[in-house]
Amino acid sequence: MDAVIHGGVVLLSDGPADRDIGIVGGRIASIGPDLSTEADEIIDARGLHVLPGGIDAHVHFNEPGRTQWEGWQTGSRALAAGGTTTCVEMPCNAIPPTVSGPNFALKLELASKLSHVDFALWGGIVPGNRAELSELAACGVAGFKAFMCATGLEEFPGCDDLTLYEAMVEAGRLGLPVLVHAENDAITAELAVRARAEGRTGARDFCASRPALAELEAVSRAIVLAEDAGCALHVVHVSSGRAVAAIAEARMRGVDVSCETCPHYLVLTEEDIERLGPIAKCSPPVRGAADRETLWDALRTGTIQMLASDHSPCPPEMKTGDFFDAWGGVAGCQSLLELLLSEGYHSRGVELRTIVGLVAGFPARRFQFRGKGSIELGADADFALVDLGAERVLAREELLDRHRQSPFVGRKLRGRVVRTVVRGLTVARDGHVSSPPCGRFVRPVKSGTSNQVAAGV
Ligand code: ZN
Repeated sequence: MDAVIHGGVVLLSDGPADRDIGIVGGRIASIGPDLSTEADEIIDARGLHVLPGGIDAHVHFNEPGRTQWEGWQTGSRALAAGGTTTCVEMPCNAIPPTVSGPNFALKLELASKLSHVDFALWGGIVPGNRAELSELAACGVAGFKAFMCATGLEEFPGCDDLTLYEAMVEAGRLGLPVLVHAENDAITAELAVRARAEGRTGARDFCASRPALAELEAVSRAIVLAEDAGCALHVVHVSSGRAVAAIAEARMRGVDVSCETCPHYLVLTEEDIERLGPIAKCSPPVRGAADRETLWDALRTGTIQMLASDHSPCPPEMKTGDFFDAWGGVAGCQSLLELLLSEGYHSRGVELRTIVGLVAGFPARRFQFRGKGSIELGADADFALVDLGAERVLAREELLDRHRQSPFVGRKLRGRVVRTVVRGLTVARDGHVSSPPCGRFVRPVKSGTSNQVAAGV
């Protein structure tokens, strides 16, 4: 065997077990008791838990075109240090945005050269690009992202309802999910105009201009449209308990809808936003403690099936001015798993099995990344080795993304990623990334398609 991960507690799909993992050709070749005599390389995991590598299905790396905001190299380094082995990158902030086959090819070429972790790509839905969706599907996008509100990005405008509906029909035909940023544009736009006209431009004013009602209404509308169109719907970054309840209710009656929430909604509240300033600005905004705890309950019960970082940085100078002027987006992809271990496993008793499902198992199944997201024979040898007991305060110097503006700096963390392995290669150790980029493109594999296609590229 090329390598054996020896002596760790391995998070298998039926729970934790003391096992060694043998790796051949980047895949899991054996799982059993002591395999250490059979390998060229021994990865010592004694005292550690071996989790499937994370899949962060919501990151914005903005390259090509806005690499000064974030790039594949810096962003993927941060992911590697944090235990994420596969990301799915958003179509909206690159110039050109990923809304056509040729634009997709530009991004694929760069990411293939620069990414330290495996990656998949979302295509985009914008007014006028419905005819491009089938080509994007042929390129291998994992699905299509649309905004139901203004984006602030000239190159990637939001969708009106008919554009969204017709794209959903096409996505349904192509067998790919549609992802929506769900906030009611009329409500949020008018409340913002009023707040600014009255000079109410602080953190709480911004949060109040994007109320949970705006999210609930848009989520409900997206469900109606997707159900009629016959496409799978995934609601990104859900922030409020009422929106989660609407999604759960739709799922109960058979609608193919899933959702994710993000660490900032689970860890921060409006008070924190006031204290931290625009680095914690995002849309939908962080809510109060009641919503935060409702989201935790929903994670525990499986009502929310997935967690993603929505890592979306910008240059520091764009995080200035009043709260409405400052660019929105939280940069936190490096801390995704560690925050969940700290605030979920340690502070709230969320089981490791649940955590692994949220950041690996579910996104792999939902978006059809075969060979990813679980530790089983034949799967890619993607792992996060964690020391559950390690405590520290997150320091800015540890961060590897471009601008290191995380709102989680200064937070006490319990549980640390000590090694990240992508297809058998160690890509990060103790927070450092020293190997060259090795990330490969991952395309969805629909059931019934051959494994040949799974290899991608
Ligand atoms: Zn996003």
